[in-house]
Amino acid sequence: MQAALLENEPVIRVGLFLGVFAIMAGWEAAVPRRRRQVSRLYRWSGNLGIVALNTVLLRLAFPVLAVGLAALAEQQGFGLLNLWPLPFWLAFVLSLLALDLAIYLQHVMFHAVPALWRLHRMHHADLDFDVTTGLRFHPVEILLSMALKLGVVAALGPPAAAVLVFEVLLNATAMFNHANLRLPIGIDRVLRWIVVTPDMHRVHHSIRPAETNSNFGFNLPWWDRLLGTYRAQPAEGYEGMTIGIEQFRAVGDLRLDRMLVQPLRGPASGYPINRETGPK
Ligand SMILES: [Zn+2]
Ligand SMILES: [Zn+2]
Repeated sequence: MQAALLENEPVIRVGLFLGVFAIMAGWEAAVPRRRRQVSRLYRWSGNLGIVALNTVLLRLAFPVLAVGLAALAEQQGFGLLNLWPLPFWLAFVLSLLALDLAIYLQHVMFHAVPALWRLHRMHHADLDFDVTTGLRFHPVEILLSMALKLGVVAALGPPAAAVLVFEVLLNATAMFNHANLRLPIGIDRVLRWIVVTPDMHRVHHSIRPAETNSNFGFNLPWWDRLLGTYRAQPAEGYEGMTIGIEQFRAVGDLRLDRMLVQPLRGPASGYPINRETGPK
Protein backbone atom coordinates (compact mmCIF):
# COMPACT_ATOMS: atom_id res chain seq x y z
CA MET A 1 0.00 0.00 0.00
CA GLN A 2 2.80 2.35 0.97
CA ALA A 3 4.58 1.96 -2.39
CA ALA A 4 1.40 2.69 -4.38
CA LEU A 5 0.68 5.77 -2.28
CA LEU A 6 4.19 7.14 -2.68
CA GLU A 7 4.38 6.47 -6.42
CA ASN A 8 1.22 8.48 -6.98
CA GLU A 9 2.13 11.26 -4.55
CA PRO A 10 1.86 14.24 -6.98
CA VAL A 11 -1.49 13.05 -8.38
CA ILE A 12 -2.90 12.43 -4.89
CA ARG A 13 -1.78 15.85 -3.65
CA VAL A 14 -2.93 17.94 -6.59
CA GLY A 15 -6.11 15.92 -7.19
CA LEU A 16 -7.29 16.12 -3.58
CA PHE A 17 -6.31 19.79 -3.28
CA LEU A 18 -8.30 20.79 -6.38
CA GLY A 19 -11.22 18.52 -5.49
CA VAL A 20 -11.56 19.71 -1.88
CA PHE A 21 -11.02 23.34 -2.93
CA ALA A 22 -13.80 23.13 -5.52
CA ILE A 23 -16.21 21.43 -3.08
CA MET A 24 -15.55 23.98 -0.30
CA ALA A 25 -15.77 26.98 -2.65
CA GLY A 26 -19.10 25.72 -4.03
CA TRP A 27 -20.45 24.76 -0.60
CA GLU A 28 -19.63 28.12 1.02
CA ALA A 29 -21.17 29.96 -1.93
CA ALA A 30 -24.39 27.93 -1.52
CA VAL A 31 -24.77 28.16 2.30
CA PRO A 32 -22.56 31.01 3.57
CA ARG A 33 -22.16 31.61 7.33
CA ARG A 34 -21.29 35.32 7.08
CA ARG A 35 -21.73 38.09 4.58
CA ARG A 36 -18.47 38.88 2.75
CA GLN A 37 -16.73 42.21 3.46
CA VAL A 38 -14.46 42.19 0.41
CA SER A 39 -14.97 40.83 -3.11
CA ARG A 40 -13.74 37.32 -3.75
CA LEU A 41 -11.76 38.33 -6.83
CA TYR A 42 -9.70 40.86 -4.84
CA ARG A 43 -8.99 38.65 -1.83
CA TRP A 44 -8.47 35.45 -3.74
CA SER A 45 -5.85 36.92 -6.08
CA GLY A 46 -3.70 37.75 -3.02
CA ASN A 47 -4.40 34.52 -1.12
CA LEU A 48 -3.92 32.20 -4.11
CA GLY A 49 -0.87 34.20 -5.24
CA ILE A 50 0.77 33.39 -1.91
CA VAL A 51 -0.06 29.67 -2.36
CA ALA A 52 1.75 29.62 -5.72
CA LEU A 53 4.73 31.48 -4.27
CA ASN A 54 4.96 29.16 -1.23
CA THR A 55 4.79 26.01 -3.38
CA VAL A 56 7.72 27.14 -5.55
CA LEU A 57 9.75 28.39 -2.55
CA LEU A 58 9.41 25.10 -0.65
CA ARG A 59 10.69 23.13 -3.64
CA LEU A 60 13.65 25.49 -4.07
CA ALA A 61 14.57 25.83 -0.39
CA PHE A 62 14.74 22.18 0.65
CA PRO A 63 16.53 19.33 -1.14
CA VAL A 64 14.01 16.91 0.38
CA LEU A 65 10.54 17.50 1.86
CA ALA A 66 8.82 15.65 4.71
CA VAL A 67 7.65 12.54 2.80
CA GLY A 68 11.03 12.13 1.10
CA LEU A 69 12.86 12.46 4.40
CA ALA A 70 10.60 9.83 6.02
CA ALA A 71 11.37 7.42 3.15
CA LEU A 72 15.09 8.14 3.58
CA ALA A 73 14.83 7.52 7.34
CA GLU A 74 13.15 4.15 6.68
CA GLN A 75 15.94 3.20 4.24
CA GLN A 76 18.80 4.34 6.46
CA GLY A 77 17.18 3.25 9.72
CA PHE A 78 17.19 6.50 11.68
CA GLY A 79 14.39 7.94 13.84
CA LEU A 80 12.67 6.36 16.87
CA LEU A 81 10.17 4.22 14.99
CA ASN A 82 12.87 2.82 12.69
CA LEU A 83 15.16 1.99 15.61
CA TRP A 84 12.38 0.38 17.63
CA PRO A 85 9.88 -0.84 15.01
CA LEU A 86 6.20 -1.26 15.91
CA PRO A 87 3.42 -2.95 13.90
CA PHE A 88 2.80 -0.79 10.80
CA TRP A 89 -0.73 0.26 11.81
CA LEU A 90 0.42 1.36 15.25
CA ALA A 91 3.40 3.29 13.88
CA PHE A 92 1.02 4.87 11.34
CA VAL A 93 -1.55 6.01 13.94
CA LEU A 94 1.10 7.19 16.42
CA SER A 95 2.80 9.18 13.66
CA LEU A 96 -0.44 10.93 12.66
CA LEU A 97 -1.08 11.86 16.31
CA ALA A 98 2.50 13.01 16.93
CA LEU A 99 2.61 15.15 13.78
CA ASP A 100 -0.74 16.73 14.62
CA LEU A 101 0.38 17.52 18.18
CA ALA A 102 3.60 19.03 16.80
CA ILE A 103 1.63 21.30 14.46
CA TYR A 104 -0.66 22.33 17.34
CA LEU A 105 2.35 23.20 19.54
CA GLN A 106 4.00 25.07 16.70
CA HIS A 107 0.84 27.10 16.19
CA VAL A 108 0.74 28.01 19.90
CA MET A 109 4.41 29.05 19.68
CA PHE A 110 3.74 31.28 16.65
CA HIS A 111 1.12 33.11 18.73
CA ALA A 112 3.19 33.31 21.92
CA VAL A 113 6.55 34.61 20.69
CA PRO A 114 6.32 38.23 19.45
CA ALA A 115 8.75 37.80 16.52
CA LEU A 116 6.94 34.65 15.32
CA TRP A 117 3.56 36.34 15.73
CA ARG A 118 4.77 38.99 13.24
CA LEU A 119 4.97 36.21 10.65
CA HIS A 120 1.84 34.32 11.65
CA ARG A 121 -0.39 37.39 11.99
CA MET A 122 -0.56 37.59 8.19
CA HIS A 123 -2.76 34.48 8.35
CA HIS A 124 -5.00 36.37 10.80
CA ALA A 125 -5.04 39.67 8.87
CA ASP A 126 -7.51 38.33 6.29
CA LEU A 127 -10.68 40.43 6.57
CA ASP A 128 -12.97 37.56 5.57
CA PHE A 129 -12.76 33.90 6.55
CA ASP A 130 -13.13 31.42 3.72
CA VAL A 131 -11.49 28.44 2.00
CA THR A 132 -8.54 30.56 0.78
CA THR A 133 -7.80 31.86 4.32
CA GLY A 134 -6.77 28.30 5.16
CA LEU A 135 -4.01 28.47 2.55
CA ARG A 136 -2.73 31.95 3.36
CA PHE A 137 0.54 31.80 5.31
CA HIS A 138 3.62 34.00 5.09
CA PRO A 139 6.43 32.31 3.08
CA VAL A 140 8.86 32.59 6.02
CA GLU A 141 6.32 30.85 8.28
CA ILE A 142 5.94 28.11 5.65
CA LEU A 143 9.73 27.62 5.48
CA LEU A 144 10.10 27.59 9.29
CA SER A 145 7.27 25.11 9.74
CA MET A 146 8.73 22.81 7.07
CA ALA A 147 12.11 22.94 8.86
CA LEU A 148 10.38 22.04 12.11
CA LYS A 149 8.41 19.23 10.49
CA LEU A 150 11.62 17.83 8.95
CA GLY A 151 13.13 17.83 12.46
CA VAL A 152 10.13 15.92 13.85
CA VAL A 153 10.26 13.42 10.97
CA ALA A 154 14.01 12.85 11.42
CA ALA A 155 13.58 12.27 15.17
CA LEU A 156 10.43 10.14 14.97
CA GLY A 157 11.07 8.12 11.79
CA PRO A 158 7.37 7.80 10.84
CA PRO A 159 6.24 5.62 7.88
CA ALA A 160 6.47 7.78 4.73
CA ALA A 161 2.84 6.95 3.91
CA ALA A 162 1.76 8.36 7.30
CA VAL A 163 3.51 11.65 6.51
CA LEU A 164 1.83 11.84 3.10
CA VAL A 165 -1.61 11.04 4.57
CA PHE A 166 -1.04 13.60 7.32
CA GLU A 167 -0.05 16.36 4.88
CA VAL A 168 -2.93 15.66 2.51
CA LEU A 169 -5.42 15.47 5.41
CA LEU A 170 -4.11 18.70 6.94
CA ASN A 171 -4.41 20.47 3.60
CA ALA A 172 -8.01 19.24 3.22
CA THR A 173 -9.08 19.98 6.81
CA ALA A 174 -7.49 23.46 6.66
CA MET A 175 -9.68 24.26 3.63
CA PHE A 176 -12.73 22.75 5.35
CA ASN A 177 -12.32 24.48 8.71
CA HIS A 178 -11.68 27.91 7.18
CA ALA A 179 -14.68 27.67 4.85
CA ASN A 180 -17.42 30.27 5.23
CA LEU A 181 -19.84 27.43 5.83
CA ARG A 182 -23.10 27.27 7.71
CA LEU A 183 -23.26 23.77 9.18
CA PRO A 184 -26.40 22.86 11.14
CA ILE A 185 -25.66 23.47 14.86
CA GLY A 186 -26.39 19.84 15.84
CA ILE A 187 -24.00 18.48 13.19
CA ASP A 188 -21.31 20.98 14.19
CA ARG A 189 -21.64 19.97 17.85
CA VAL A 190 -21.03 16.27 17.05
CA LEU A 191 -18.44 16.87 14.34
CA ARG A 192 -16.24 19.08 16.52
CA TRP A 193 -15.44 16.09 18.72
CA ILE A 194 -13.74 14.46 15.71
CA VAL A 195 -12.39 17.27 13.56
CA VAL A 196 -11.95 21.05 13.86
CA THR A 197 -15.09 22.57 12.28
CA PRO A 198 -15.41 25.97 10.57
CA ASP A 199 -17.31 27.43 13.56
CA MET A 200 -14.64 26.15 15.96
CA HIS A 201 -11.73 27.62 14.00
CA ARG A 202 -13.58 30.87 13.21
CA VAL A 203 -13.29 31.75 16.92
CA HIS A 204 -9.50 31.71 16.37
CA HIS A 205 -9.86 34.43 13.71
CA SER A 206 -11.73 36.84 16.00
CA ILE A 207 -10.20 40.29 16.50
CA ARG A 208 -10.42 39.83 20.31
CA PRO A 209 -7.01 38.66 21.62
CA ALA A 210 -8.53 36.17 24.10
CA GLU A 211 -10.43 34.51 21.25
CA THR A 212 -7.49 34.68 18.80
CA ASN A 213 -5.45 32.83 21.43
CA SER A 214 -7.78 29.82 21.52
CA ASN A 215 -8.65 26.85 19.27
CA PHE A 216 -5.17 26.32 17.82
CA GLY A 217 -5.93 22.90 16.31
CA PHE A 218 -6.05 22.62 12.49
CA ASN A 219 -7.02 18.99 12.22
CA LEU A 220 -7.83 17.13 15.48
CA PRO A 221 -9.84 19.12 18.05
CA TRP A 222 -8.58 17.12 21.04
CA TRP A 223 -5.38 19.06 21.83
CA ASP A 224 -7.31 22.26 22.55
CA ARG A 225 -9.67 20.43 24.88
CA LEU A 226 -6.91 18.47 26.61
CA LEU A 227 -4.48 21.34 26.99
CA GLY A 228 -6.94 24.06 27.99
CA THR A 229 -7.09 26.30 24.91
CA TYR A 230 -10.60 25.38 23.77
CA ARG A 231 -13.25 28.09 23.43
CA ALA A 232 -16.69 27.02 22.24
CA GLN A 233 -18.15 30.27 20.84
CA PRO A 234 -17.14 33.86 20.07
CA ALA A 235 -18.58 36.42 22.52
CA GLU A 236 -20.33 38.36 19.77
CA GLY A 237 -21.66 35.34 17.89
CA TYR A 238 -20.52 34.04 14.51
CA GLU A 239 -22.31 36.70 12.54
CA GLY A 240 -21.56 39.63 14.87
CA MET A 241 -17.87 38.92 15.51
CA THR A 242 -15.14 40.87 13.72
CA ILE A 243 -12.68 38.79 11.67
CA GLY A 244 -9.02 39.80 11.53
CA ILE A 245 -6.57 41.65 13.78
CA GLU A 246 -6.52 45.27 14.90
CA GLN A 247 -3.46 46.24 12.88
CA PHE A 248 -4.32 45.62 9.24
CA ARG A 249 -7.88 46.74 8.54
CA ALA A 250 -7.42 48.37 5.10
CA VAL A 251 -8.63 46.47 2.05
CA GLY A 252 -5.29 47.33 0.38
CA ASP A 253 -3.52 45.15 2.98
CA LEU A 254 -5.02 42.10 1.23
CA ARG A 255 -2.74 42.69 -1.79
CA LEU A 256 0.04 40.15 -2.26
CA ASP A 257 2.92 42.68 -2.06
CA ARG A 258 1.48 44.28 1.09
CA MET A 259 0.95 40.87 2.71
CA LEU A 260 4.60 39.97 2.21
CA VAL A 261 5.91 43.02 4.11
CA GLN A 262 3.40 42.80 6.99
CA PRO A 263 5.93 41.16 9.39
CA LEU A 264 8.07 44.30 9.20
CA ARG A 265 5.28 46.82 9.69
CA GLY A 266 4.37 48.35 13.05
CA PRO A 267 4.65 46.81 16.51
CA ALA A 268 4.04 43.15 17.38
CA SER A 269 0.83 44.47 19.06
CA GLY A 270 -1.16 43.06 21.93
CA TYR A 271 -1.69 39.45 20.86
CA PRO A 272 1.47 37.53 21.91
CA ILE A 273 2.50 36.85 25.52
CA ASN A 274 3.84 39.75 27.55
CA ARG A 275 2.57 42.31 25.08
CA GLU A 276 -0.88 43.14 26.42
CA THR A 277 -1.59 46.79 25.73
CA GLY A 278 -4.83 47.28 27.60
CA PRO A 279 -7.39 45.61 29.83
CA LYS A 280 -8.13 42.06 28.73
ZN1 LIG B 1 -3.23 31.37 14.52
ZN1 LIG C 1 -6.73 29.90 10.61
